Amino acid sequence: MDQRPPRSPETLAAQALGDVDLGSGGLAPVINLSTTYEQLPDGSYHQGRAYTRADNPTYEVAERLLAALEGAGCACVLFASGMAAVTAVFQSLLPGDHVLVGRVLYWGVRKWLAEFALTWGLDVEFVDTTDLGAVQSAIRPGRTRLVWVETPANPMWDVTDLAAVCRAAHAAGARVAVDNTVPTPVLTRPMEFGADLVVYSATKYLNGHGDVLAGAVLTARPGPFWERIRSWRRNAGAVPGPFEAWLLQRGMRTVYLRVRRASDSALAIARHFEGHPALTAVLYPGLASHPGHAVAARQMSGGFGGMLSIRVAGGPERAMAVLASVEVFKRATSLGGVESLIEHRQSTEGPSSPVPGDLLRLSIGIEDPRDLVADLEAALGSVATVSGPAGPPATADGGGTVP
Ligand code: PLP
Repeated sequence: MDQRPPRSPETLAAQALGDVDLGSGGLAPVINLSTTYEQLPDGSYHQGRAYTRADNPTYEVAERLLAALEGAGCACVLFASGMAAVTAVFQSLLPGDHVLVGRVLYWGVRKWLAEFALTWGLDVEFVDTTDLGAVQSAIRPGRTRLVWVETPANPMWDVTDLAAVCRAAHAAGARVAVDNTVPTPVLTRPMEFGADLVVYSATKYLNGHGDVLAGAVLTARPGPFWERIRSWRRNAGAVPGPFEAWLLQRGMRTVYLRVRRASDSALAIARHFEGHPALTAVLYPGLASHPGHAVAARQMSGGFGGMLSIRVAGGPERAMAVLASVEVFKRATSLGGVESLIEHRQSTEGPSSPVPGDLLRLSIGIEDPRDLVADLEAALGSVATVSGPAGPPATADGGGTVP
């Protein structure tokens, strides 16, 4: 009898499930570019696929791998972007459905809900999901169909107790969707805490190299709502290209190495700068001083993620001067790539942003963390004596399209 234990997610990721291309024996999957598939004389199809807007073997490689990393028994569909994945979930609800959404969350989701949810007929209510009592009193039994949680949440890195929120939602018959883009399945598997759906911007850590736009939705169990999400993708055409899906499976092979490295470095950087005289705060769930630390320590395993924010003493002008002075960090939006990024979040989000003007968001990459610490120290030091640099730049479109 075979005594080998089931393969760990790290092994499954490294080998992209260990599949071999049957046509060639290749260890890397082939990219299937065909948009259409041959119909057999009896009307059936070779493998059940008819058209690439519905299914494509190259999407399926990445989908099966991500489903395996997320946990046994779940199903996955890829989307053209994280936002295509997020909006597919909301658009699969029905007019009149009540939805609770975390107050701190990726701004693009809040902006989309503000612009489109009302006309879609959704009743969206924002709530502090870190406050269980607030969630419990906001849930309307029989009317609340979805609770949307991001944890740790952009860009304050608030932490929501997934198990507690899932219990409260399920008791009232509502499902819970978790945007798990920042922790990835490496650090948190929300379905283990009861989540019904998990959503990703795969553009970030899952691909990890800043060269693919993609998203994914996973379900703990198939059912009518899942079929609506799949149908939305198929009928709206919100699919990635086969090349993007191929790059994504390649990126996911190293996701454990990259996320752990970024996470370790982020913790070292957060500890180094906590209490720094040029800063008023370091926001990172891995610090014992963070209000969500105890919950994060319980539901994140092996690290607290690669994202942190700093608040610069002296206000927005000083923050902009620090931003202008870095040399190793790249000034850019987005997150989860191999190179470290720094961003003045308020000017990215535009005039309606609730983010404080003195906040800089850092996405830690896989460089030597000593270079990152030295770069930030130098940037903070160089502005400590400078007074009155330019304020935040105006955004080209007042915010609205960027991650
Ligand atoms: N969710 C989170 C947490 C994000 O940070 C982003 C983008 O920054 C998205 C969703 C949207 O992803 P995409 O840019 O791939 O559409």
